[in-house]
Amino acid sequence: MLTIPEYFGSLVFDDRIMKARLSSQVYRSLKQTMERGTKLDLSVADAVAAAMRDWAVENGATHFTHWFQPLTGITAEKHDSFISPAPDGRVILEFSGKELIKGEPDASSFPSGGLRATFEARGYTAWDPTSYAFIKGKTLCIPTAFCAYGGEALDKKTPLLRSMEALNKQALRILRLFGSTEVKRVTSMVGPEQEYFLVDQAMYNARKDLVYTGRTLFGAKPPKGQELDDHYFGSIKPRVAAYMEDLNDELWKLGILAKTEHNEVAPAQHELAPIYTTANIAADHDQLTMEIMQKVAARHGLVCLLHEKPFAGVNGSGKHNNWSIATDTGMNLLSPGETPYENAQFLLFLVAVIKAVDEYQGLLRMAVATAGNDHRLGANEAPPAVISIFLGDELTAVLEAIENDAPYAGMEKKKMRLGVNALPRFIRDTTDRNRTSPFAFTGNKFEFRMLGSSNSIACANMMLNTAVAEVLRQFADALEASTNFDDTLHELLKSTVIAHKRIIFNGNGYDDTWIREAVEERGLLNRPTTPDAMGAVLEKKNQDMLIAHQVFSKAELLSRYEIQMENYCKTVRIEGLTMVDMVRKEILPAVEAYLADIGSAAAAKQAVSPELPCTYEKKLLKKLDLLVNLMDERTEALEQAMVNLETLGDITQEAYAIRDVVLPRMRELRAAADEAETCTARKYWPFPTYGDLLFGVR
Ligand code: ADP
Ligand code: MG
Repeated sequence: MLTIPEYFGSLVFDDRIMKARLSSQVYRSLKQTMERGTKLDLSVADAVAAAMRDWAVENGATHFTHWFQPLTGITAEKHDSFISPAPDGRVILEFSGKELIKGEPDASSFPSGGLRATFEARGYTAWDPTSYAFIKGKTLCIPTAFCAYGGEALDKKTPLLRSMEALNKQALRILRLFGSTEVKRVTSMVGPEQEYFLVDQAMYNARKDLVYTGRTLFGAKPPKGQELDDHYFGSIKPRVAAYMEDLNDELWKLGILAKTEHNEVAPAQHELAPIYTTANIAADHDQLTMEIMQKVAARHGLVCLLHEKPFAGVNGSGKHNNWSIATDTGMNLLSPGETPYENAQFLLFLVAVIKAVDEYQGLLRMAVATAGNDHRLGANEAPPAVISIFLGDELTAVLEAIENDAPYAGMEKKKMRLGVNALPRFIRDTTDRNRTSPFAFTGNKFEFRMLGSSNSIACANMMLNTAVAEVLRQFADALEASTNFDDTLHELLKSTVIAHKRIIFNGNGYDDTWIREAVEERGLLNRPTTPDAMGAVLEKKNQDMLIAHQVFSKAELLSRYEIQMENYCKTVRIEGLTMVDMVRKEILPAVEAYLADIGSAAAAKQAVSPELPCTYEKKLLKKLDLLVNLMDERTEALEQAMVNLETLGDITQEAYAIRDVVLPRMRELRAAADEAETCTARKYWPFPTYGDLLFGVR
């Protein structure tokens, strides 16, 4: 059997393979393209393609595909065979540099939010040489960006790459000001922690809501939920352990450094975290991970639920986006340094993030807005919809000292002036683990915790990168124009802390009093649902910033607004229709059958002795009859609400109607059905219960 180091990355055309299989000249120019973004010429591309094909074929591949991330939220691929007819009636295996660099999938059925209508009907995919090609099944997958013919991005990778470039450019200006000459490239690094649920496949199949929508639309609370906290970090059940082992193997072959796996708070909930890497590779890997998680689950008779809120009343699933900024010389710019200047530089990057998050709260919130995530962020759990930053006591005290030109306790009563006096050496990892903060500093990185478990991490990171790039631009402008670097730096830090400290909050983010304080006293945004969060895309200040850094064009932004809103509406509509279907075809018939049996039981008793009171049966019959009528009424009301959507003029109106009318009616219908479940005998209930699903995997 192979050892892990032997098979790790065995299905990836990575640096090791490139070195071994490319001529040193080809290798060098490919590396240049990867590291500096220089243009690749066709002869190099041809050589790379040939090496890739040989390697892929040796590893069992028969097809290749440009693998991309359209705005549907999942990945797309169109497989082409390597086979090409040869003149003698036989075939040869071909894959040219042209095919490597550019593809033309029939893009007409991917969402474009009107972009293709405005521009060109077709789209093309373009190789992203900074993310390694890999083999999945029998297919060589080439990570690509997906654009319309006019160059407008139709995917999530393109703006992410552009945002990384924007951050690189502005961060380099700052580093030069601090005297660095060696750093050539600055990159955002990301490690996403992924939460998920595992349920039994047979039980999953028996629930239309899970099959159609990924979440339970009905289900009474089981007697036991997560109140004992006995699942969190508890021992892993054998079936789950076997799944995790298999999953790790598959991910390791693809060069994905899945590292920690443990149980989460809710029963049947688990977490997986890869080791961090550059933001675009992390985004590719995260998409792949979600796909492989589901595939491997099927092999174990399980289903992996990536929905943000598969079960009401039980914790939802999120994704923690650990984010930092690194240089090609191995420096983490969010890590407190050794010398006063390094610390000053750290503080400048730190306050840049604080300012960026404060000024572009709306964009960050928008980046994680989906119908599924609304159940977490808008509800009383995991990070709230209000964005705030947790810094921990020590850093907060440092910033306070800067703000007040006051001595900082850690530094022997010297005033907090940068470049003049030494800053205290911050002790790393002294930050308490605040689990409720949406955006927490954790020693040398920020952890953005609002992402939903099924979100692509590309969206959050493109906003974060660009917002920080914008603030760094402002800082660099001021510092470059200054005649006294130290004074200007000090002023920048101080004024930024004063202007943006409202976003710093080290307390409990779940607390209702915090939400009130955040909104009423601090003026922070609270946008609990997708329709209000999406408005951020339409705000001029946000558009100007994203356009100035060439991360989005106006048309691209508007198309994304359309697509995300449409996605919200479609998701909830499917849920509504599924509920109607389940009530009419499963729940009502089941309760009626039970009612009939109770009725016959009462009749049988009275046939024996007419004076028997049959109190139990009568009470139950009455109650169930009431609930049956209520369900029927509420099903009609829900249906009507959905019919009414047809009369609305645009997607914005529809989204609000869904939020304000359809979703409340769904909740009312569910309440009646869940009540009926609690008084219907188990054998009549038409599908597995919460108890079955949550505790069914041993
Ligand atoms: P916890 O669950 O306590 O937050 P984990 O170790 O499970 O911690 O996850 C931390 C995540 O942060 C991992 O994916 C890790 O690779 C990532 N990470 C660590 N350091 C950095 C960094 N400098 N930049 C980005 N991500 C990082
Ligand atoms: Mg974490």
